[in-house]
Amino acid sequence: HRTPELEAPQHADVARLLPAPGAESDKYRRGVVGIAAGSARYPGAAVLAVSGALRGGAGAVRYVGPAKDAVIARYPETLVSDRGPRKAGRVQAWVTGPGAGDDAATVAEVVREEVPVLIDADGLRLAEPAAVRARTAPTLLTPHAGEAAALLGVDREEVESARLTAVRELAARYGAAVLLKGSTTLVAPAGGRGAVRVNATGTPWLATAGSGDVLSGLAGSLLAAGLTAVDAGSCAAYLHGLAGRLTAHGAPVSAQNVADGIPQAWRDVS
Ligand code: AMP
Ligand code: MG
Repeated sequence: HRTPELEAPQHADVARLLPAPGAESDKYRRGVVGIAAGSARYPGAAVLAVSGALRGGAGAVRYVGPAKDAVIARYPETLVSDRGPRKAGRVQAWVTGPGAGDDAATVAEVVREEVPVLIDADGLRLAEPAAVRARTAPTLLTPHAGEAAALLGVDREEVESARLTAVRELAARYGAAVLLKGSTTLVAPAGGRGAVRVNATGTPWLATAGSGDVLSGLAGSLLAAGLTAVDAGSCAAYLHGLAGRLTAHGAPVSAQNVADGIPQAWRDVS
């Protein structure tokens, strides 16, 4: 009996994994996701990560960082804090990196937290590999091919021509689960061995600025709700892809449209 190299979850597989509040649920039991993202230069990335996180099933979204005013203006339901991640209050999973610019200190602080952490975008460049490897709680890295290539020290073409090898290699080097974005999305378990999940629900219309930031918030929210790194990543990619398809309908969409489409995607799979 051999484990298949690739698994392609379908509606029912995803539905089984998605969080569903019970009668006894409250917002804290549903999970609090922390978003430590954005910068003066890229406040929108923070807003978009929050937009994904609000649709991912956590009971509350907490934001820390310089885009607080922009986040609150768009999503008043967000809990904001003037303190750094360590002192922000209860958080069951963190997302860091989208629009982070050069804020290595915030990324490092999040990496030291002993809860699940998702690292995306600028955070991938800023995080210390040794600090990521030293983590004991689950970690999920979410690079696109260019970011994966930079982490591996190879050309982008090398990643594109051997995506399965690249995602496994990154998962081995970082001792973390890795979600490699692209026309299909691959999710490898920490260490890089075992089945890799493949997702093909997306559409090329998802290749639009901010799309990945929505995905990172969505996956972080699922982490906070208690899913494993691989389950959170693959369910998020599945829903994000469907949301892109539903909202695009053969026409261009913005990242905000994709975030707004997540609830319908969720209903469709459940
Ligand atoms: P990012 O590059 O971080 O903004 O993320 C882009 C998002 O769009 C990821 O979820 C990708 O998987 C998705 N995406 C990009 N290009 C395509 C494509 N050609 N087909 C389907 N999904 C795509
Ligand atoms: Mg991105």
